[in-house]
Amino acid sequence: MSGPRGSLYRDTGVVLRTYKLGEADRIVVLITERHGKVRAVAKGVRKTRSKFGSRLEPMSHVALQLYQGRELDIVTQAESVDHFRAIREDLDRFAHASSMLEAVDQMSLEREDNPALYKMLVGALRTLADHDSPLVVAAFYWKLLAQEGFRPELDVCVGCGEDAELVAFDLEEGGTLCRVCRSGVPISPDALDLLRAILGGQLVVVLALPPSAATREVDQLATRAMEHHIERKLRSIGMLERR
Ligand SMILES: [Zn+2]
Repeated sequence: MSGPRGSLYRDTGVVLRTYKLGEADRIVVLITERHGKVRAVAKGVRKTRSKFGSRLEPMSHVALQLYQGRELDIVTQAESVDHFRAIREDLDRFAHASSMLEAVDQMSLEREDNPALYKMLVGALRTLADHDSPLVVAAFYWKLLAQEGFRPELDVCVGCGEDAELVAFDLEEGGTLCRVCRSGVPISPDALDLLRAILGGQLVVVLALPPSAATREVDQLATRAMEHHIERKLRSIGMLERR
C-alpha cells in the first residue's frame, strides 16, 4: 500500500469533495486506484491562480503526485485525466454524479485500498458522460452494495424459501417476500425484473431504458438500501471506536 512517511508517491484518483483549509489552501478528498481514500492538501489553490485549482474539483479524474505527510498528504502535482465536461454542463447528470461521489465517500475508508470501487466509479462517470439514464445512480448503488457483500435475494421468498409470487422487498430480511410472509415495502413485478437485470449483468440494457414507474421504484429502493447500509456501517465503526 502506502510508502513510508515523508516519501513521494503517484496515484490516479477521482475527487470526491473538497473543503477549505485556512486562508488559501484546500483539502481534497479522493478515491484513488491504489491507496483507497486519500485526504490531501492542495496548497495555495485559493489564493493564486493555481494551475491545480481547476483540476482538483469534485468529479475530476486526475493523475497525482503526493507527498506523504504525518496527518495529511500534500498534492505536489496534478494532471487532468478527464474533467467530465458533459456531466458538469448538465444539471441532471451533475446531480446523478454527485450522488455517486457521496456514496463512494461514505463507503470508503481512508488508506484502505479498494481498486474495484475506484474502477466502478470511473466506469459510471464515463457512462454518465456518454449519456444520462434514469437508472444510472440506482444501478451504481446496487452494484456497489453487491460488491460490499450485500446482494439481495430476488428469486425466492426470504421468509419461507418458496418460489411463490414475490410482492414485497425487505432490506432487513435481505430480499423479496411472498404474500404470506410480506414485510418491508411492496415491489412491482416490473421493478423486480429491473433489479434482477441490474444485478444479473444486463447493465447496458437497463441503462438504455426511459423513465417509468418501475425505474422510479428501483431508484427509491436503491437510495433506501444505500442509506440503510451506510447507517449500519457507521454504527459498526462507531462501536469499534468505543472499544
Ligand atoms: Zn414466503
